[in-house]
Amino acid sequence: MAASQASGTYFDGLTARPHPVTLRLTDRLEIVGRDISVAWDLADIVAGETPPPLMRLSVVGESARIEFTDEVFARAVFVLCPDLYRPEARDAGGRWRLVLWSVAAGLSVLLVAIYGVPALAVRLAPLVPDAIESRLGAAVDGQIVNILGDPPACNDAPAQAVLDRLVARMIQGRGLPSDLRLTVRRHAMANALTLPGGRVIVLSNLIAQAQNADEFAAILAHEFGHVVARDPTRSLIQATGSSFLLSLVLGDLTGSTIIVALGQAAVSAGYSRDAERTADDYAVTMMEAAGGDAFALATMLERIAKDDAKDGAKDGSKRNLTNFLRSHPFTAERAARIRALASPGSAGRRILPDEDWAVLKRICTKAAPATEP
Ligand SMILES: [Zn+2]
Repeated sequence: MAASQASGTYFDGLTARPHPVTLRLTDRLEIVGRDISVAWDLADIVAGETPPPLMRLSVVGESARIEFTDEVFARAVFVLCPDLYRPEARDAGGRWRLVLWSVAAGLSVLLVAIYGVPALAVRLAPLVPDAIESRLGAAVDGQIVNILGDPPACNDAPAQAVLDRLVARMIQGRGLPSDLRLTVRRHAMANALTLPGGRVIVLSNLIAQAQNADEFAAILAHEFGHVVARDPTRSLIQATGSSFLLSLVLGDLTGSTIIVALGQAAVSAGYSRDAERTADDYAVTMMEAAGGDAFALATMLERIAKDDAKDGAKDGSKRNLTNFLRSHPFTAERAARIRALASPGSAGRRILPDEDWAVLKRICTKAAPATEP
């Protein structure tokens, strides 16, 4: 049997732009066009409910899709992919949530336009569907990496293994998104950024500034607190107001300048005092559950604040220390609260053996050996 072939249209799931492609059915479904060459496993392909002869195919868990109207090709796909219409693939609930969300977002754009108050938009943050949040996170991630000057990702294999194990232990049974994605990037800033869709970017100088694994883990735990509370999405909606919602309604998350604005907002985002407090509380609980020192967050914040005050008058050579504080304003009240919440028994515990921490600290060795302290 000759390989079936048809022409169709490919959508990358990020923009509304259609890409003309050639579809070829072999042992996979090959999609080839200008700048596009992907192949989908036949077992993963699902079909959307469309009026014939239009056929819309995608891959479970991804937002890219293809559309075509060639009925011979459609039959060939149907023969080779008997699971095309399996019920769980349709995810009717998800689609309804998406429709409801679009309606709600549309309404809120109207309200913002009429009353100029993004309060409703902020309240809507927890209702943003995971799929949209994850697309948003991917787009903002790229933008931030851009703004930071494309810092290399650090993934020295033994260090990455220690980090993966540490994170797995910390998040176990805590209901964090399953696609939680933590990346370390080599950068002179001591900071950690949490983006929508469970993405956390750690800048390597934060690891260098931590005096032990618990201080580093405590900052991670604090960021995970922001993930759970969906603070990044809320803050981005707040920072960009109705234009963010409008871009959701229009379904185009990358084709506009909005993403640039989102990236900048995420880099400089400060959360409300309440949000910081909640993330601190979360960090204390998480550190204790993971067998670490629940006081470590307070210790690190205090040290950063002290160094910052000491060096504040100088030429700014220690400027990097202030970055974490800028997005996480330190108050004595915050440290006091952490100490009051932490159970005394956890003081001085180590979340990782010293050898593992030494390995983890070398995570950026390969990315840029010259400046590693
Ligand atoms: Zn924070």
